[in-house]
Amino acid sequence: MNGTPKGFFQSKRGLRQGDPLSPYLFIVMQEVLSRLIKHAADNGRIHPFFQARGTLLVSHLMYTDDIVIFANGSKRSIKGLMQVLNSYESWSGQVLSKEKSAIFFSKHILMSRKRSILRISGFSEGSFPFKYLGVPIVNGRLKAFDFTDLLGKVKKKIAGWKMKLLSVGGRTVLLRHVLSSMATHLLAVLHVPKIVIRELNKLLSSFFWGHSLWADFFKGKYVRDKHLSLLVPNKGTSVWKSIVNSIPDVLHNSKWLVREGNLSFWYDNWEEGGPLHIHYPVIDHSMIKIKECRIENGWDIPLLERLVGQQKANDVYQFLARRNEGQDVLVWMKENNGSFSTKSAWDCIRIQAPPLNWAHWIWHNHIPKKMSIMMWKASNNCLSVDAKIQMAGIPMVSKCNCCVLGNMEDLNHVLCSGEFARQLWHMAAVQLGVHMSEFRTWQEQIDFWFR
Ligand SMILES: [Zn+2]
Repeated sequence: MNGTPKGFFQSKRGLRQGDPLSPYLFIVMQEVLSRLIKHAADNGRIHPFFQARGTLLVSHLMYTDDIVIFANGSKRSIKGLMQVLNSYESWSGQVLSKEKSAIFFSKHILMSRKRSILRISGFSEGSFPFKYLGVPIVNGRLKAFDFTDLLGKVKKKIAGWKMKLLSVGGRTVLLRHVLSSMATHLLAVLHVPKIVIRELNKLLSSFFWGHSLWADFFKGKYVRDKHLSLLVPNKGTSVWKSIVNSIPDVLHNSKWLVREGNLSFWYDNWEEGGPLHIHYPVIDHSMIKIKECRIENGWDIPLLERLVGQQKANDVYQFLARRNEGQDVLVWMKENNGSFSTKSAWDCIRIQAPPLNWAHWIWHNHIPKKMSIMMWKASNNCLSVDAKIQMAGIPMVSKCNCCVLGNMEDLNHVLCSGEFARQLWHMAAVQLGVHMSEFRTWQEQIDFWFR
């Protein structure tokens, strides 16, 4: 209960508010209503509301117990819709709240038509703007401030989840299914300003990554005001040591674009030739920052000359004179957009085997993952065939399952020379018109096949 175990409680019949089952039942019933509407729209019993050409036809939008249904204003559509709602009510036992529901008319609809629709449906007329998921629905374009409520809702939702109880996987699931479904519902119908999307993404990703408490902690404990490139992995926990060990890789692949110059003159990688301390002796001013070399309306050239000598000072001066205003930007050089990604970082440090020319075939989207993994294991000689087990020192008699007589089961036999494998290769070769000869090993065979 709320993150801590509580005593046993006996369950009885019926559902109470807050029963863990009720959201599921609710979702099941919603699905029924959703399909009823879709079915009626597909059959032409409810005619769609006019939408811009080429956009997806939206018959309804649903979120928790709110639903917005779109239809044109013909009598037939309204009758069709009322039939759907009536069947839903009688099937589910839920009753639509007529007080809380309303019809919103397009401005092109005639007064007489409005009256007859209201009479048939029993609903009352609503007026713009109304709110759906906290976003005002208006006749016209939405502004960023119209979304304040929505962003507030998302914030509240995130705050309500018990961060510490969720694994990374759990967080992904929640994000995908709850938050992003909320957003995509809206994106389908609204023209959402870019800044709102950015803000929403920021919220979602900070929920996913959590606050970078650990980074603050390590910084405070081990780094303090030292420059990262001067850290040595001689103290601290093994986690910290392995972080320090990977710092050179990170620094080597990142670069600063100098703006305000709040960067170490000597140790940050901002100048074309790399960090200056590599090429020039750091005699004094070891902690100096780039911005501290500025004077009013320019750069302190005598200071630059004292630091790196006359010739280099001129280069540095030329370089700094071209910089823009604003905050310094850290660029990850392994990605085109300059943003750090674990994928590209991993590519920098891992030892790569030469790529197989058939790798893209076995990792093809149409092939079940367990097949791909089996082939991947085979190519790394990791399939647990009998021969492999024997090699691991486990004594066993080997007899394959693919031939009448039974042979020693090793990779080549199973995938290439055994009766079953041979027949399969032959069948495929005939079907596809590939001329196959006999191969000694399965690698040769498969290389030939995908050559
Ligand atoms: Zn066999």
